[in-house]
Amino acid sequence: MSGRILVADPVSTNRIVLKVKLAAACYDVIQAAGGDELLARADRDRPDLIILSSDMGSDDGVPLCQALGKRPRTANIPVILVTTDHSPELRTRGLMAGAAEVLTKPLAEAVLLARMRNLLRARDTRAELRLRTRTNQALGFAEAPEALVRPAQITIVGDDDGAATVLRSRLGPHLPHEFLIESRFQALSFRHAERPHSDLFLILPEAAGSARACVTLSDLRSRANTRNAAITQLVRQGDTDALTMALDLGADDAVEIPATPEELALRIERQLRRKRDLDRLRASVTAGLELAATDPLTGLYNRRYAEHHMARLFERTRENRGMFCVMLVDLDRFKSVNDRLGHQAGDEVLVEISRRLKRNLRAIDMISRHGGEEFVITLPETRLEDAVATAERLRTQIQDRAIRLSSGASVMQTISIGLAMGTAESHSIAELLAVADRALYASKADGRNLVTVGQNAA
Ligand code: GH3
Ligand code: MG
Ligand code: MG
Repeated sequence: MSGRILVADPVSTNRIVLKVKLAAACYDVIQAAGGDELLARADRDRPDLIILSSDMGSDDGVPLCQALGKRPRTANIPVILVTTDHSPELRTRGLMAGAAEVLTKPLAEAVLLARMRNLLRARDTRAELRLRTRTNQALGFAEAPEALVRPAQITIVGDDDGAATVLRSRLGPHLPHEFLIESRFQALSFRHAERPHSDLFLILPEAAGSARACVTLSDLRSRANTRNAAITQLVRQGDTDALTMALDLGADDAVEIPATPEELALRIERQLRRKRDLDRLRASVTAGLELAATDPLTGLYNRRYAEHHMARLFERTRENRGMFCVMLVDLDRFKSVNDRLGHQAGDEVLVEISRRLKRNLRAIDMISRHGGEEFVITLPETRLEDAVATAERLRTQIQDRAIRLSSGASVMQTISIGLAMGTAESHSIAELLAVADRALYASKADGRNLVTVGQNAA
């Protein structure tokens, strides 16, 4: 993973030592010796990450960290605060000032690099999701609404019930959330459906130094029902192997314990906030996909989606030498509904017809709105006589019952249908649609409210 790292330290030998280490890990390093230079370079060069000494000569690192977080151009850049002060107060102060991480000297290189990877990865995910949301917005899709902020569900996982209970009672006063305690076995043995919901897993230290050190974490990360939860792995003081392993295996955070409840609570709140943001972004991506494939008025698939789908269906038919039917449905004299009752009434008729058509099809059939008052239905693995029976059923389902409008009025509507059968010998989807279209035209010409089977040219 490459990236541009800004190292801010008033002592030149400190900067050089760090630069050599980071360059060896393929990072591009820029430097700043004082507070003003730091802010100027961060603004101008937009580094991917900043490593900031808490002692910046005449400046203090903590307020600088706060300043970076307040400027729009630098607010999203993660900052690692490096300090010689081992007091928990400084750690808390740094985190509260917006530092992504506080590391104490002497810096363990493996830990620093693992932290950096973790922070850069988190930043990339956020950036990617933000980009997709922007695409959705550019395409005119609405953004997912701000989720209701409810108390989060935190699950403490560990085999030492006593330790888990103590942890819960220490965190409780700092976090307005609900806590669950699960053994490792429970955490991993829940089936999908019975898995209690959890926003964050707080995993107690596993056996140090062994290959099993992060087994719970990896497992939770790989399962569909826990994949998107935040994970904070706790490790024993000084167990840098477990710490780096946890970060590289996808923990959102890894914390050496004992840590003060204040620090733990701060870090947990931060991960919960991040998870909420990601959930929201993910929801808007999903909504975008749905909107890209469906017709907003009727909720049916749109033409673009249907064309892709028919191409796949056609390929499969060729491969397995099967068959399928295509149906073109058009509302009869629909223009007169708009003319007599207005466009709004016309829309309501379209929605109700869509509903009836859909309800009378199998799950494997696909119905799409091809624009206007025309629908395309594909019936996979269907013989022609069965398709004709289906078409007749659809036709009578529309013809037999008046459509009630919100105005109280009701409308009688009918549909005309053209059918075509596709086989492995068919030339193309376009040809089948043309056959169905000619059949539809014949239904119209013969008086409407009819089903006509198209004759293939071949
Ligand atoms: P035919 O039986 O020959 O199909 O007659 P028709 O009136 O249904 O056909 P024509 O193609 O002349 O008119 C289609 C009408 O469908 C024109 C347009 O006003 C209406 N229409 C198309 N899309 C919509 C829509 O989204 N909402 C509403 N309310 N009307 C629509
Ligand atoms: Mg029509
Ligand atoms: Mg039409």
